[in-house]
Amino acid sequence: MEIKAGIALADYTSWLIGGPADYFALPTNIEELKSCWKWGFERSLPVSFLGGGTNVLISDKGIRGLTICLRKFSKIEINCEKSNLKISCLSGTAKSELLKAFLKYKLQPALFLAGLPGDVGGGIVMNAGVAENFFPREFGEIIESFNVLSFDGKIFSIKKYQHHEISWSYRHSKGWEPGVIVEAFIKWPIEEDSSILDKVKQANIIRLRKQPLDMPSCGSVFINSAQHKSAQLIDSCGLKGFRIGDAQVSTKHANFIVNLKQATAQDTWSVILHVQKSVYEQTGVHLKTEVVRLGEWD
Ligand SMILES: Cc1cc2nc3c(=O)[nH]c(=O)nc-3n(C[C@H](O)[C@H](O)[C@H](O)COP(=O)(O)OP(=O)(O)OC[C@H]3O[C@@H](n4cnc5c(N)ncnc54)[C@H](O)[C@@H]3O)c2cc1C
Repeated sequence: MEIKAGIALADYTSWLIGGPADYFALPTNIEELKSCWKWGFERSLPVSFLGGGTNVLISDKGIRGLTICLRKFSKIEINCEKSNLKISCLSGTAKSELLKAFLKYKLQPALFLAGLPGDVGGGIVMNAGVAENFFPREFGEIIESFNVLSFDGKIFSIKKYQHHEISWSYRHSKGWEPGVIVEAFIKWPIEEDSSILDKVKQANIIRLRKQPLDMPSCGSVFINSAQHKSAQLIDSCGLKGFRIGDAQVSTKHANFIVNLKQATAQDTWSVILHVQKSVYEQTGVHLKTEVVRLGEWD
């Protein structure tokens, strides 16, 4: 498979921000994934993984070594077994493919998946989900098990993790690292909800009304907690519209930072720090970032 040099990573993120990858690979299957990882190891290069790029802030200097992007590492198999829907998919499969499968069978998980961008692997890593109080509402509630590929420089090994072996918390999963998530397995009872399509349509209308989906972003930048909603805190501190360069706290949704056109990672990070500082000074709450920083930072 082809490994390219000097690829602009901005093109692989929803924020359209980020410098170059020294080397870049887009494997489509497990053999290609292993071969590019081995290629990086043989050259003593650090190896980083990127899913759909919808929750990362990549530095302007880019990522040293080899970046393996999984967005083409995609394949889905759907079967009905007895009264269950069983799905197995490679980790680079878009979440929207899961949404389609659940919609086809009119099942509840379609509701939280509606509008979640990125791929399945990124969804497991981030335990992606929604704030609304329904079930299921996050990845940890639909994943039965998943496989993680690791490499010690000589041998590749795949370990299967069952749902209960993982610690699932708000926008985070723990207990499977190190390695790369390669395959996910989902089992869900076939209990039809005939109104699910209407509910999904309604959820999409609400998202469209509340979120700046027409502008490049990474979704919510800061984590919500049981005590506070980050958007409300940021808004209450008068920070909507605050801007450095082309990075701006969205005027529509205060927990989104949008790229107006030419925002750099540094602009964006400076806005994040300013929001954290202002909110802390005015409310005493320290906002934690949900977005993951990748690459070389000062
Ligand atoms: C408009 C918009 C709306 C959003 N709304 C929501 C929302 O409602 N709820 C929500 O939870 N999130 C939301 N997000 C954030 C984001 O979509 C999720 O966190 C998503 O699950 C990230 O998946 P990804 O494939 O893009 O991961 P990436 O952003 O590519 O990666 C995230 C992290 O996971 C690591 N990673 C990715 N794939 C793998 C793998 N296979 N193995 C090991 N590590 C891996 C990366 O190295 C990185 O550290 C939104 C984003 C946008 C742009």
